[in-house]
Formats: sequence, structure tokens, C-alpha cells
Amino acid sequence: MPAKHQKHRRPTGVQRLTRSIAVAGTGAVALGLPLFGAAGAHAAPQQGAQSLPVAAKKAASETYKVKKGDSLAKIADKKKVAGGWKKLYKINRDVVGDNPRLIKPGTKLDLGKKAAAKPAQAKAAAPKAEAPKTTAADAAATGGYTAPADAALGTAYRTAGSMWSSGYHTGVDFALPTGTPLKSVAAGTVVSAGNGGAYGNQVVIQHQDGMYSQYAHLSQLSVSAGQSVTVGQQIGLSGATGNVTGPHLHFEVRTSPDYGSDVDPVGYLRSHGVSVG
Ligand SMILES: [Zn+2]
Repeated sequence: MPAKHQKHRRPTGVQRLTRSIAVAGTGAVALGLPLFGAAGAHAAPQQGAQSLPVAAKKAASETYKVKKGDSLAKIADKKKVAGGWKKLYKINRDVVGDNPRLIKPGTKLDLGKKAAAKPAQAKAAAPKAEAPKTTAADAAATGGYTAPADAALGTAYRTAGSMWSSGYHTGVDFALPTGTPLKSVAAGTVVSAGNGGAYGNQVVIQHQDGMYSQYAHLSQLSVSAGQSVTVGQQIGLSGATGNVTGPHLHFEVRTSPDYGSDVDPVGYLRSHGVSVG
């Protein structure tokens, strides 16, 4: 449970820029490269799907080997690192050292592209859908996704800020007035519907792919725990309950029902053919 999930800004012109910087920065740190590689290797014999490890590798952070004459600025420019050399330095501070102007040829830099690479994420999800054991379920699920609300995106995923207990925004916000119908993004089972503390009235739904979606700050709940829902089914009305400064929908996608297991919700929807924002 977040100690203080509060504040939700209205969309502004700089939002897009802020998002790309924040995303590029946090992804690489959160995901240990060797660990991720090992998981992919182990997954191969179990899954028996050849495409899976390849996809997993693609999703891992992109690295760059420093050449003579390189500077962080040059590399950031060449590799189009969101946030520029400052972000590149921040990500690789421990290998670069205290002086960002001095980088040794041969040093491997993390380009921090894992989380920012939305197409890579979508690619990673695609081969999974082709895995033999889940073909039927995933085929049905892939066609059966929708946006949680007909509204514009507000505060983006992983926007950094001290107002969130995790240090960053764990979902996305949709700017909409109180009383707007909210929809389950896919078929699933309601795992909880009720008061979520700082999240106010919230609904958490488990979907057929094992992922969870969360809808927070609702003024009214239309479902209850244990109930099955279909894609697009109304699960409640938007509101401003919990720790907020105004009405909006806070929407998360998670790998578990619990706070802290969030993934990029926009990327998740996109991998299922739904674009929001
Ligand atoms: Zn939010």
C-alpha cells in the first residue's frame, strides 16, 4: 500500500518529454541485465519455444562499447538516448566514475533503452502469444482488449516525483470528470473491489494472461470481488476518492495483485493492439 499516492497533474505540453526521460532512466536500473539474461536462458528448455529467449534478449538493455574519441554527449546523440548525456551518465555513473568527461574506450555503457523501447516490448509479447501452451487463450485475449476509459492521458507512467511513495508514478492517469464509466481492459476476474487507502475506491482484475489491471479513485464500484467480467464491461465510475487533488482515473497494469509489481500500462495495452493517449 502506498503511503502517499497523491497528486495528479493535468496534462501539460512538457509531459511527453518528461515521460521519455523518466522511462529511459528507471528501466535499466530496475532490471539487472545478468539476472534477466539468466532467466531467459532458463526459460528456453522449459518453454520449448525457440523464439522466447531471443525476444527476452531483445528486451534487455542495449549496451554500447566506448570507442576512442567518444564522449557521453556524442554517444547519447548517436544512440538517441532520451534525456541526453546527463541521463546516460546517470545510468552509467558507477562505470564512468565521477567525471562524466572522462570515459575510457572499451567501457560498456548501458543505453537505458529497455523500458523506453516500446516496440521491443511489443515484440517480446508477440512470440509469447505463439507459445504452444497458451495459443488458444492468448489468441482470444489479444483481440479482446480495450482502453479503460475514453479519455486523454494525463500523468505518464514512471514520471519521477517525491509525491509518490515509490519515487515514481506506478501507473498512468486519465483526465476525466467524476462519474465517467470505466471499463475492464480485458476479460477476467475481479480480485478486489473496495477501499484501497490512498487509491480510494479501487478495482483490481486478473486477466487470462495472468496480468492484473487496477483502477483507482473511483466514485462508485460496479463489480465485486470474485465476479467475472468481460472486456469493456463497466467496473465503476471515475471519481476523486483517496489521495488525490482532483478527479481522474489512475490505471495500473501489474504482474501480481499487489502494489509495486507495475509494468508500463500503455505498452501493455499497445501489445494487445490498443493505443491510448
Ligand atoms: Zn496516478
